[in-house]
Amino acid sequence: MKKGVLICAALLLTAGCGRQNDDKMDVQDFKWQIDRFDDVKVLRYQVPDFDSLSLRQKKLVYYLSQAALCGRDILYDQKFALNLPIRKTLEEIYLSYGGDNNDPRFKAFEKYLKKVWFANGIHHHYSNDKFVPGFTESYFDSLAASTPSLNGKEELLALIKPAIFDPELYRSTCDQSDGIDMVTSSANNYYDGVTQKEAEEYYASLVDSTDPRPVMAGLNSRLVKRDGKIYEEVWRLDGTYSPAIEKITYWLEKAATVAENPAQKATIEALVSYYKSGDLKEFDRYSILWLEDGDSQVDFVNGFIESYGDPLGYKGSWEANVNFKNIEATKRTEVLSRNAQWFEDNSPVDSAYKKEEVKGVSAKVITVAQLGGDAYPATPIGINLPNSDWIRRDHGSKSVTIQNITHAYNEVAEGNGFADEFTLRDEDKELARKYGALAGDLHTDMHECLGHGSGKLAPGIKGDELKNYGSTLEEARADLFALYYLGDDKLVELGIVPNKDVMKAGYYNAIFNGIMGQLTRIEPGKNIAEAHMRDRQLIARWCYEHGKDDNVIEFVIPENGKKYVVINDYDKLRDLFGELLREVQRIKSEGDFEAGRRLVEDYGVTVDPELHNEVLERFAKLDIAPYSGFVNPVFTPVDKDGKIADPEKEEQIADIKISYPDDYTEQMLGYSRNYSFL
Ligand code: ZN
Repeated sequence: MKKGVLICAALLLTAGCGRQNDDKMDVQDFKWQIDRFDDVKVLRYQVPDFDSLSLRQKKLVYYLSQAALCGRDILYDQKFALNLPIRKTLEEIYLSYGGDNNDPRFKAFEKYLKKVWFANGIHHHYSNDKFVPGFTESYFDSLAASTPSLNGKEELLALIKPAIFDPELYRSTCDQSDGIDMVTSSANNYYDGVTQKEAEEYYASLVDSTDPRPVMAGLNSRLVKRDGKIYEEVWRLDGTYSPAIEKITYWLEKAATVAENPAQKATIEALVSYYKSGDLKEFDRYSILWLEDGDSQVDFVNGFIESYGDPLGYKGSWEANVNFKNIEATKRTEVLSRNAQWFEDNSPVDSAYKKEEVKGVSAKVITVAQLGGDAYPATPIGINLPNSDWIRRDHGSKSVTIQNITHAYNEVAEGNGFADEFTLRDEDKELARKYGALAGDLHTDMHECLGHGSGKLAPGIKGDELKNYGSTLEEARADLFALYYLGDDKLVELGIVPNKDVMKAGYYNAIFNGIMGQLTRIEPGKNIAEAHMRDRQLIARWCYEHGKDDNVIEFVIPENGKKYVVINDYDKLRDLFGELLREVQRIKSEGDFEAGRRLVEDYGVTVDPELHNEVLERFAKLDIAPYSGFVNPVFTPVDKDGKIADPEKEEQIADIKISYPDDYTEQMLGYSRNYSFL
């Protein structure tokens, strides 16, 4: 199991005010939230300072953005083999529908389609569970019958209908329940005809324990068994997904012509070379070039990156992100990364598992300009790459905090009533208003650049020993590192925080969210499945239980009969974070699967049904969607007369204009029309 290396937005208690950072360019009356359905709200993000980029940089952003959109279909297919035919069928029905738009059955159909777009398939983007359609199969039949393009497509309809309507089929796209065959139980399209045991044996057989620089085997392929033979179908040009990869590489090659400097040009060319050959050694070469290019302002992620969607953690889902450095805000993360060795040396971790030399820690704050694949519409707010263990060991890693996304979250959270409903003490509300945003950004900075990059393995330990608990424990390790140092005097000394109240705001948010807040995202009767959520509950519950004697964290029920969580002793809580960090690092360093399993299963998975019900009831009254995603801005190349320019003719482009569309359905249909290649 590779590292889990991105973090998702926790529910933010923060209001929009009190931010001390740099979003100067708020468009007046900017509409942040543009759509709402089911448990999801769709937001927009701004791209402040885009106009301060040079023309060449703007062209680079534009070409990389095109490449970011061309892999959308790959992700659909990776998540489930029938996702693409289902999406296309639903869209055909939607576009040809001529009936009453207010018919509640059609409304339910439309909602289902919006959910499929949001999740890039028919399984929930976060819980991985299959959606239950709010309309009947016979209604679907009547819609299909009146859609001319579906005439004579009985075979297709017979194929996709059970996937949509039979609740027993394809229940989860990534099922990591304890004690099952996780491969055959998961509906994803990463394996075909193989069992978990066969897949694990196949990849174990590829491991050469004498190789100090092993590739991430399985990252860019589907593992199949045909006629008793197991082999990989590689995702590359002239291989699987070739039509989409052809488009991606076309735009990447255009991007290389306007790179900011020779190092960045070489980086993009290495990525193209990897897409063409499918050779994972080329991917490693690209990753090192990408990591070591610290000078360019414009940057990107594009490829098969994170392995959360594969219960075994081998397969990379396709994702993309185009961004540029926020130079002013990056000063904060530069102070942290310059002091990385101090943080490593002073952590509560056993000295045997500390890095003697922290290498190549680079951290920056970025402004996202385009999201694609597994980062769209739902996106992480921080990224730490590359994932290869030996590259991290020998070359370090690059961490980013995505500030314009967090800013959008904060704007939307302002005044939605969430903090008032769930926070008991006025002082906690006040601290959240004052320091919540800073605490959140700092947590992300330290989670990514210090947390994931810290620690080392014991001799002989490979890093995949924790198996299906690896992602959760890795996220917990990074969170604990951030939490521990959020309360350190060093941050005041470095001038990063004004005082220890920032710690209080961050600690309250972490405990509240881990023990109560995030339960709003779990359906009644369900357990916690997602790695980041397991990590957050594990930390909060463990600290609650282990601080009981000293009443460090307390549940309080005042006269209104509602349950609240409060922190009585911040210093003791910090000690508990340190103690748990030490243990989680030991588990990772020693590959102690059993201790890791117990920690996750005992504290991170099951929920207290009574508390869960209360949280859901109180949350329902607020009418807030627990999940968020974003539509992308649109970049339009124009010529010297301000007319739309041909994007293929780079020399005619005099400027790139940015606009912020506000129709989610339109963007999704447009992407299906213009960027669908599979
Ligand atoms: Zn992380």
